[in-house]
Amino acid sequence: MTTARIETVVVDGLALANEIRDELARAVAAHRAAGRRAPCLAVVLVGDDPASASYIKGKRRACERVGMDSLERKLPASAGERGVIAVVEELNRDAQVDGILVQLPLPKDVRANAVAEAVLPAKDVDGLHPLSAGRLLLGEPGLRPCTPLGILEILARQGVPLEGAHAVVIGRSAIVGKPVGLLLQQANATVTLCHSRTRDLPALCRMADVLVAAVGVPRLVKGEWVKPGAAVIDVGVSEVDGELVGDVDTEGVLGRARLVTPHRRGVGPMTITMLLRNTLAAYEARGA
Ligand code: NAD
Repeated sequence: MTTARIETVVVDGLALANEIRDELARAVAAHRAAGRRAPCLAVVLVGDDPASASYIKGKRRACERVGMDSLERKLPASAGERGVIAVVEELNRDAQVDGILVQLPLPKDVRANAVAEAVLPAKDVDGLHPLSAGRLLLGEPGLRPCTPLGILEILARQGVPLEGAHAVVIGRSAIVGKPVGLLLQQANATVTLCHSRTRDLPALCRMADVLVAAVGVPRLVKGEWVKPGAAVIDVGVSEVDGELVGDVDTEGVLGRARLVTPHRRGVGPMTITMLLRNTLAAYEARGA
């Protein structure tokens, strides 16, 4: 059976992100006009990983763009878990700081979970504290992880119906796979969460109205795995021969999917924007 060719929308995540950043900038300006200080995001960088350094530069620029303050705490790779947690605790006590983000990955001797637990839940703009994770599981209000939030925002702004839809998520990490599965479920989708031990992944993907790939395996998802008219969100980023590649064979999906996010200017800019939105929410909740 041949399927009719569908005009696939390649989502411009940067344009969507800019739209939301304008909204955030207006909200920050309104606080300033009322005589309040600007919201402030603190970023902790441990070690000298060039990719991490570039990510935090992007975060600083994004803060500037919406009129938020940001500060950076740089620590040597030798700082150790206690050293990193000491800095986090200092930021917890700093009344001028609304959000704390510890840039991942951390050196091997620093447990990411222990650091996430040290962040004051009210300042947990990454949504990785166990209390934030628990609130998400229970469906209670709270700060949610940024990439999952960005994915839901893309789907909402593209008018993708989630109620009763079958959403298939590939990946079960605490940062992307599991939380995006919970958010989709809370939006009344029926969610299948797949992982490295899943049997017949292509067959499950073919059943998806919404397909989220958060794996880190270059071009894992082939065009023929995609149900005609599905919305495909490519979260994965891998480097192949010096080039960044997503989890989805984007070319193969064109003409089949209703929409696809590209691995560049797709989910990435939305993730940073949701970090800004969480920082504003933390600031407002603290009654700063
Ligand atoms: P992770 O390594 O913690 O998790 C990967 C998941 O994929 C695991 O649950 C694993 O079970 C599953 N998996 C591995 N191989 C598989 C296979 N062959 N078939 C099915 N499932 C498989 O990674 P993560 O932190 O969730 O990130 C996933 C990807 O998303 C990475 O490439 C990461 O760089 C990218 N990422 C992008 C953004 C962004 O803003 N664009 C944000 C976060 C993560």
